[in-house]
Amino acid sequence: MDTAVTRPAANAPVVARSDVIVVGGGPAGLAAAISAARQGASVTLLERYAYLGGLAAGGMVLVLDDFVDGATEITVRGIAQEMVDRLHALGLAVYPPPDDRVLSDEMWRRWSRWGLFDLYAKGPKKSIVYAVAFDPDGWKRVSNDLVEEAGVDVRLHCWYSAPIMEGSTIRGVICETKTGPQAVIGDVVIDASGDADVAAGAGAPFVEGSYMVTTVFRLGNVDTDTAERFEHSQPAECHAVNRKARRILGGSWALWWLKTPLEGVVWCNCPHMTGYDGLSVEDLTAADREGRKRIANLLEYVREHYPGFEKAVVIDVAPQIGVRQSRLIEGEYVVTKDDVVNRAHFADSVARGRGYYTPYRALLPQHVEQLLVAGRHYSVTPEAQKLSREIPPCMAMGEAAGTAAVEALDSGVTVRKVDVTAVQQRLHYLGADPGDVPSPRAHPAGVTYEAAS
Ligand SMILES: Cc1cc2nc3c(=O)[nH]c(=O)nc-3n(C[C@H](O)[C@H](O)[C@H](O)COP(=O)(O)OP(=O)(O)OC[C@H]3O[C@@H](n4cnc5c(N)ncnc54)[C@H](O)[C@@H]3O)c2cc1C
Repeated sequence: MDTAVTRPAANAPVVARSDVIVVGGGPAGLAAAISAARQGASVTLLERYAYLGGLAAGGMVLVLDDFVDGATEITVRGIAQEMVDRLHALGLAVYPPPDDRVLSDEMWRRWSRWGLFDLYAKGPKKSIVYAVAFDPDGWKRVSNDLVEEAGVDVRLHCWYSAPIMEGSTIRGVICETKTGPQAVIGDVVIDASGDADVAAGAGAPFVEGSYMVTTVFRLGNVDTDTAERFEHSQPAECHAVNRKARRILGGSWALWWLKTPLEGVVWCNCPHMTGYDGLSVEDLTAADREGRKRIANLLEYVREHYPGFEKAVVIDVAPQIGVRQSRLIEGEYVVTKDDVVNRAHFADSVARGRGYYTPYRALLPQHVEQLLVAGRHYSVTPEAQKLSREIPPCMAMGEAAGTAAVEALDSGVTVRKVDVTAVQQRLHYLGADPGDVPSPRAHPAGVTYEAAS
């Protein structure tokens, strides 16, 4: 059998030209497209699936974390917060009011089953913090509103396949569609694919990281009041049932089910499965099948043994399998775990999340001109990415990348030569926090400290 075949050449009609092309309509790509369009650029946003939102919508990752450092210091603002405000106005986002954001038994009881606590705190009960539970279809709906208002040209059902290069400069991208390949031409390309598809294809250096994958799912018809009563009135019995449930899942966080803005619908950020490559067709197919088997077994068990789950049904398994990490670019600067845990501050910081800062250099791939990246595949070591890839900071990176693209175009320079101070000023003007002003708890980058508490 042949081991490879040569692909026949095919013409790709040019279907769009714009100042900025964004590949990937997840949290980072959405924010990149909106910020660039709001600042006057023409923007084409390409997405392989039928909706915008990426892991936040199709991946059904339904809690926004890393909005805050410690109990009170809000670190992400801008488009991420705007998304929350709009979802909240629709009744599709829930977060604790400021007075509830404390460590206490009462608040733990009230908010823990929403998952709105400090993920990095030690001990069984953690401080309640500003984090947001939201509805995935609400996210899709608000995304559509935001791109429409900003005038972004959205092209769904387009699968990026190759860059259009002129020497080392990217001039556009090729997408696969039902009618064959199509070309989109632009001055700056932002890779927000989550897997660095564009950067890798264009020849930028990257590493291949990996982390557990998850077939996230939701159960409906759950009487959450009864389930919570069981948890609080019979803690030992409930613990035993949860332990068995988690064993069936074969990997999950301690709180394997969480409440959502929809009554009777719970979010299950599990089962976690290791050893799967997030870029491999075979592995993704196998992981999806394995996840569904575990979910079916879990359902059978909880219907019989978990008060409140007697009539539970699976309402959906996320159509986008939960890949947390795959390719990570090796950009102009590679963020390290020390940087993340020690709150290393960079003069060219353009985004924040929890305690960490993202330098502009970590959005700049090496060797390829006019390309930026934003999102979970930014320039970071695999171990540091596990601690710095939540949805709000990915949106902050996207907002920064879109802004840098426009600043470069307006000043007639390449994205590599852009004036980062001007980008930071624009981000402030837009209501975002680029992190140029360090928090009192931050340290200058390059100094090694003991891991922060
Ligand atoms: C199971 C799981 C649980 C998580 N839990 C949390 C949590 O509780 N809270 C939190 O804040 N974060 C959580 N995260 C992390 C967070 O969801 C991601 O890091 C974040 O969504 C990354 O955003 P992104 O835009 O970089 O990438 P993605 O969300 O992956 O978006 C990438 C987009 O690009 C599109 N795309 C990819 N390739 C192509 C292509 N070739 N052509 C066209 N389009 C393409 C995709 O369809 C997608 O829309 C979790 C992640 C996972 C997987």
